Amino acid sequence: MIKIAILGSTGSIGTQALDIVRRHPDRYRVTALTARASLEKLLDQVREFRPEMAGLTEGFRPEDIPEDLRFCRFLSGREALHAAAAEVPADKVLVSIVGIAGLESVLNALDAGRQVMLANKEALVTGGALVMNKAKEKGLPLLPVDSEHSAIFQCLQAGGGNRPDKILLTASGGPFRTWPREKIETATPEMALRHPNWSMGAKITVDSASMFNKGLEIMEARWLFDMPEDRIEVVVHPESILHSAVVFRDGAVLGQMGEPDMRVPIGYAMSYPERMETGVNPPDLFALGKMTFERPDEEKFPALRMAREALRAGGAACTVLNGANEEAVAAFLRKEIPFGEIARRVEKALDRLSGLKADSLEDIFEADRLARMVSRGGEAN
Ligand code: NAD
Ligand code: MG
Repeated sequence: MIKIAILGSTGSIGTQALDIVRRHPDRYRVTALTARASLEKLLDQVREFRPEMAGLTEGFRPEDIPEDLRFCRFLSGREALHAAAAEVPADKVLVSIVGIAGLESVLNALDAGRQVMLANKEALVTGGALVMNKAKEKGLPLLPVDSEHSAIFQCLQAGGGNRPDKILLTASGGPFRTWPREKIETATPEMALRHPNWSMGAKITVDSASMFNKGLEIMEARWLFDMPEDRIEVVVHPESILHSAVVFRDGAVLGQMGEPDMRVPIGYAMSYPERMETGVNPPDLFALGKMTFERPDEEKFPALRMAREALRAGGAACTVLNGANEEAVAAFLRKEIPFGEIARRVEKALDRLSGLKADSLEDIFEADRLARMVSRGGEAN
């Protein structure tokens, strides 16, 4: 039995991971579940999967816990995340919470000697060097869950230890791929949340529309695969069947294809190095007919340029980009700012906050705090 802890169990990734557990009850046992605020959903999951521990970071009242669930230890706040990542027995920890909040949990899980199944890309975006050093020090693999990074990871397994010259990171292009710039500028949350191929949480869906998601994924790939930014090429592929590819020096390109269904990369992280049934069928190539590829339009989607500039700048620039973007996306979802303002706020934070360090967790949290402040329109101090 493989014991797994799931941080962010009520979200898009968390519920799909539980769907896989449901298919393999003889193989996995869930020992911890955490969510931010969705108490009812969490209680249903506790009833079904019977973990030793469950937690809500926003907290709960003791009287909220029904009598029949008292077998489970309920925790709240940061303590809940810490216990799930590092205290409750687990072989693997799925970190599928949103934002920089995932960074500490990833480090805690690695410190405790657990394999991390990483959905939370922000941990690498903000603390890439810290996380990779910790994984190395502990001799633990980081198992990517992001579909593109899982694809690259799978291609590298097939590449037999050869180092690729280049990574081809595919992108769907999001809902605004074919829209004129002026129309994108004033897009509403309803429009941004209508992703053509993937069903995901709100934050990452907005990031897919702005292409900040792909910018964050360039950063994620840079750390996971130790690949310089100029060898990571973004390829827009609207059908989302090729999930990314690697290019070897002999001219061979290995890619991984599949339906746009996160249960494939989640399942691979769970069963690695084996493969198991996930409930997903392979794509029907005859029905698909063709696959198309385009260059990204960096004029319409400045996120890619900003992400590359932040990577080249080093220090805490990627943390600044991420923090400013998290704040701006939240403001956009509250309908306080137009869509086009997201990228402008990120640009402003990057301009104002150059040269910050990212040598420690404290440096990173401080850069994140300043970036959020600038993004909200305050002065950084
Ligand atoms: P989601 O919003 O659907 O779910 C997030 C989960 O984490 C929920 O259980 C929520 O309660 C919890 N959570 C949110 N913020 C938290 C916080 N600050 N502290 C503690 N718990 C918190 O999000 P999602 O789409 O499942 O994405 C999760 C992570 O996986 C993100 O980092 C995202 O970028 C990444 N990811 C998601 C997908 C996808 O298909 N959804 C694909 C690739 C990567
Ligand atoms: Mg992705």
